[in-house]
Amino acid sequence: MMKKVVKFGGSSLASPEQFKKVKRIVTEEEVRRYVIPSAPGKRYAKDTKVTDLLYQCYDMAEQGKDFLPFLKKIQDRFDEIIRGLGLQLSLQKEFQVIAEQFQKKAGSDYAASRGEYLNGRVLAEYLGFEFVDAADLILFGEDGAVLLDESGARIRACLGQKEYAVIPGFYGSLADGTIKTFSRGGSDITGSLIAGAIYADLYENWTDVSGFLVADPRIISNPEVIETITYRELRELAYMGASVLHDEAIFPVRRAGIPINIRNTNAPEERGTLIVESTCKKSKYTITGIAGKKGFASINVDKDLMNSEIGFCRKVLSVFEDNGLSFEHMPSGIDTMTIFVNQSEFEEKEQQVISGIHRAVSPDVLEMESDLALIAVVGRGMRETRGTAGRIFSALAHARVNVKMIDQGSSELNVIIGVKNRDFETAIQAIYDIFVTAQL
Ligand code: ASP
Repeated sequence: MMKKVVKFGGSSLASPEQFKKVKRIVTEEEVRRYVIPSAPGKRYAKDTKVTDLLYQCYDMAEQGKDFLPFLKKIQDRFDEIIRGLGLQLSLQKEFQVIAEQFQKKAGSDYAASRGEYLNGRVLAEYLGFEFVDAADLILFGEDGAVLLDESGARIRACLGQKEYAVIPGFYGSLADGTIKTFSRGGSDITGSLIAGAIYADLYENWTDVSGFLVADPRIISNPEVIETITYRELRELAYMGASVLHDEAIFPVRRAGIPINIRNTNAPEERGTLIVESTCKKSKYTITGIAGKKGFASINVDKDLMNSEIGFCRKVLSVFEDNGLSFEHMPSGIDTMTIFVNQSEFEEKEQQVISGIHRAVSPDVLEMESDLALIAVVGRGMRETRGTAGRIFSALAHARVNVKMIDQGSSELNVIIGVKNRDFETAIQAIYDIFVTAQL
């Protein structure tokens, strides 16, 4: 039988109403067999996620304050869900254990993980599925990284015996049994690890948006949803700030060639975004997505005959390396090269870098510019289409945006454009309009 791993984010499990939607989705297809819940998230915009409440509560415990009334409030959140679903479950004992562990200072990872743990208990009861503790399946090494082989073997051994199960997201354990969590949003990684380990046919990631959007909805009103995107395109866009999924969540499924489907719990009739290794499906538009970030600085180094000086670039770059700075892009000319760096990281080390470059290569001119933004226009469709760059730049010229830098990756998967911070939104709007709005 086919197997799907389905992960539900916090807002999908924030209230009894949301739980009901989740049950409808899970039971609609019998192949939705392994369910990964997050902790209850926000019910309304100003609400606080249970994970944040747990961190706060544990802080109180660590400071020796009376945390019990606060913990009771967290218990109330769960009880409200349990009552709303008409379940008989009581979490009283669980909360006693948690209170004891808080008193013993069991660690903030332990504290935060209880949101997923308890939500897993509730969801398992509600769905009638077996509960499997993630602490028994996901193992971390001393360096904080997941032990992939060992975790994979445990996941297969355990879930191979079970047709249906609920496994809480976000945490696992160290060799001595201590609970350890991923970074925030890490339930996405749990789902991916499980899907990868059991060779699932699909990893469905249910959230509160209808998929990956072509552009940031804070800049473009009602942007189109991307139907299919490759892992590489996603990496490019995610790196530039577009986020729906935890960055580390793609690797375990990608290794196993399993697609991810981003879906919307509040609109299950929509197909969402399918993330795949590769596809011969043409994207709807020439471009797949646009993303970008503000806050870069550029350092421009000029020197006559730089071109013929062997090792010039390496010497310049080693100055950045010695100062612990990574660079974003490095467009170059005949006797000039420019390095783009993160402005706030660079500002702290600016003078060391400048003197370092002077010492390393004695440039004729060294100039800097700040308040720059980088925009990535990403799309596998660009490879086969003529005139993409032309369209981008004429759109920007019409919008009166001055282009500071252009970098087309050799994969022809992306074009990176540098503009002033103040032109950022206008530039994204202009690119969106020329490729998407104009084709609607
Ligand atoms: N509940 C955790 C968080 O808020 C993990 C997750 O939702 O994936 O970060």
